[in-house]
Amino acid sequence: MTKKKLTTASGRPFAENENSLSVGARGPLLLQDYILHEKMAHFNRERIPERVVHAKGSGAFGTFTVTNDITKYTKAKLFSEIGKQTRVFLRFSTVGGEKGSADSERDPRGFALKFYNEDGNWDLVGNNTPVFFIKDPKKFGDFIHTQKRDPYTNCKSPAMMWDYWSLNPESLHQVLILMSDRGTPFGYRHMNGYGSHTFSFINDNHERFWVKFHFKTGQGIKNFVDAEAAAMKSQNMDHSQQDLLDSIDNGDFPKWNVKVQIMPETEAVNYKINPFDLTKVWPHADYPLIDIGVLELNENPENYFQDVEQSAFAPAHIVDGIGYSPDKMLQGRLLSYPDAHRYRLGGNYEQIPVNKCPFMINNHQRDGKMRVDGNGGKSPNYFPNSFDHIQADTSYKEPNWPLDCSLADWYDRNSDGEDDHYSQPGSLFRDVMDDQAKQNTISNIVGAMSGINGPQKQEIINRQLCHWFRCDPQLGAGVATGLGIDVDQIMSGLPKHQE
Ligand code: NDP
Repeated sequence: MTKKKLTTASGRPFAENENSLSVGARGPLLLQDYILHEKMAHFNRERIPERVVHAKGSGAFGTFTVTNDITKYTKAKLFSEIGKQTRVFLRFSTVGGEKGSADSERDPRGFALKFYNEDGNWDLVGNNTPVFFIKDPKKFGDFIHTQKRDPYTNCKSPAMMWDYWSLNPESLHQVLILMSDRGTPFGYRHMNGYGSHTFSFINDNHERFWVKFHFKTGQGIKNFVDAEAAAMKSQNMDHSQQDLLDSIDNGDFPKWNVKVQIMPETEAVNYKINPFDLTKVWPHADYPLIDIGVLELNENPENYFQDVEQSAFAPAHIVDGIGYSPDKMLQGRLLSYPDAHRYRLGGNYEQIPVNKCPFMINNHQRDGKMRVDGNGGKSPNYFPNSFDHIQADTSYKEPNWPLDCSLADWYDRNSDGEDDHYSQPGSLFRDVMDDQAKQNTISNIVGAMSGINGPQKQEIINRQLCHWFRCDPQLGAGVATGLGIDVDQIMSGLPKHQE
């Protein structure tokens, strides 16, 4: 192998890399040892701000292959013909823990995808659950605080978590999924992914369809039971990372079957549930899954920081043929995700190779921190101009979006018709879970709620118990028994409107 000279970042060859410049063998150091400064200074700057949520993650590149013709729903070039392949990057993550936290924590998992498409990058920023804890983005910061550390103890606080969940019954569906064994997946390969939000498809005839995305694991669902997840925390904090990395390195490429649910635009108005409510699913019986393709991960990033840590996904990044919806959480994320990236990585974060669209990018954005792509060279930095012939293309215009002309107000997210927090989780517990799954879920809830402490302990427990009972009496009774609580006493304490 040819020898290479060791250099500073500016290219100056080092004469010495292990001993600092000192006055005499045992004397003080000289300020002019620039190489020493550079090594220490760069080291001090190695960490970038950790993501406030989804800090601990793993990622890989791969391909999405179309297996079914869905061009009657969308003109997105990604889906233009069966067999078409698109390069993707997928970052998995836990949500609440810090960057050094354990992969096997009970937590939802992030499932964030970037499709490198000729019409721009499409980011589908989902989770391993089809629903979420809240349905209005104004509540996000408060909710996440309860999943983080207590401001006084600096410890995680079951009291904060259950206080919040019990005061926000719309969280029940997601909390039930979190408390089932799907809250502790064996690893990233063995879980489903969901786009979660409702998005839109637009076809060549300018017709709009509402759409939900599902990624069904080809490896089969595999979860840790609570005790196994706890044990894995001490055995290997990075179990999911290791599992994903090893499987791809060994040529065992994980796959997901990609499916959609489609709702014609006008059906949304009269559908029995609000189809834009992120705490609800669309039952499969009403909107069956339609196959669209296969996702395969087949390439580990060469360098974790470069590709996984610096990757940045935003649901705002859509492509022609795919659009947004009135889902309030989605609307909030359209703003907050790019904003988070501009803070964490800088205004030019989309120039970082993993985030960069490998196809055309033409605009008049210039300058800013870490502008490293030539900055547009001599070309004009304003629009309109007489030189570069860069124009908007009206063929990319979305069809008009009919919105009702209600009065602007702070509408109650849980008003009449929006307040059934119990039917869907009830159906999950009663109709979908087998006896073992029910038993494990109850046991996981009891374990988690047993950690509630402090002066409001009984109030919080009672309030949450009411929700479990309203979800399903067997579930409520199981949790109450597990917590050693007298059910009759609780029921007699219920406020009138909850009876
Ligand atoms: P189905 O019987 O058609 O589907 C049940 C779904 O539940 C399957 O997708 C299954 O995933 C999933 N599932 C099984 N166990 C769990 C769990 N512990 N946590 C989360 N998901 C789980 O029923 P419906 O469509 O009528 O929905 C019934 C309930 O199932 C819903 O209220 C919701 O709680 C849950 N569900 C529904 C989904 C939907 O989009 N309709 C998606 C996911 C969950 P798999 O097939 O991979 O085993």
